Amino acid sequence: MKSKVYLVGAGPGDPELLTLKALRLLQSAEVVLHDDLVAPEILKLIPSTAQIHNVGKRCGKKKILQGEINCLIVALAASGLRVVRLKGGDPLIFGRAGEEIESLRRNNIPFEIVPGVTSALGAAAAAQIPLTNRRASSALVLITAHRASGKDASERDAADWSKFVGSGATLVIYMPGQNYSDIARRLTAAGLAGETPCAVISRATTKHQRTHRTTVLDLHRAPQLAAPALLVVGEVVRLADPAAIAEEFVVPDLSPGLDSLLPVALFKTILSQAPRLGADEEPIA
Ligand code: SAH
Repeated sequence: MKSKVYLVGAGPGDPELLTLKALRLLQSAEVVLHDDLVAPEILKLIPSTAQIHNVGKRCGKKKILQGEINCLIVALAASGLRVVRLKGGDPLIFGRAGEEIESLRRNNIPFEIVPGVTSALGAAAAAQIPLTNRRASSALVLITAHRASGKDASERDAADWSKFVGSGATLVIYMPGQNYSDIARRLTAAGLAGETPCAVISRATTKHQRTHRTTVLDLHRAPQLAAPALLVVGEVVRLADPAAIAEEFVVPDLSPGLDSLLPVALFKTILSQAPRLGADEEPIA
């Protein structure tokens, strides 16, 4: 009898960012097929009774083609095994889930998708960058620097990037590669100002996490941080700096006598010291 296949997001690395559902499915899986990006700490949560296969395209002994992965998932599910297809971050974001879904549908295998924390969100949280901000950016665009192949690919890239740059959205660039000069050139060619702040965030939410903040103009001088890494580009990156936050929001100083205040009195103090919102301002970002 065919079993259901679960396409599960493993999040950006920290095992505590797994969803409860992902954890439950991993603990009851009979076969787990995972990508290179899935952290070893997460693989340790899988019971030793389950078969675990790395079907990643980089570290596996031989290069596995996407078609072979699709066939493997279908064959395992058709044999009645409970299969978890585990992907880094969220399975639906730059995760080739579309091809696996198509193959499962074609073979009438039931499946369910379990979302995960995509690395853009993990990285932004780890680097303390608010991805939207009511003054700096009201939109977020997730893009990849990995070029599509084909004759017109670079023209198509340039056109796409200028559309995003023109919108003023925060850009998160997945798979930026090591050629930061090329990315900076593509961003400026798309119309982005050289002084726009940006941050390279490497191995976000793991103990090896590293962050480098710079500007698009100086991006070519950024150190080559270990993969996986991504790039956050936009005015919001400035807000990772505590001094910038302090400038933007007036933070009431509550320290004198704080511990002697009752909660209700404390609340009243905060309200009385907070700047009044203008009629056209919303209290939330
Ligand atoms: N499905 C994944 C993305 C897969 S594409 C997700 O939702 O996150 C692979 C790219 O994701 C990497 O090249 C890198 O740009 C980014 N990435 C994945 N994990 C990361 C991490 N812990 N820190 C920084 N970038 C990461």
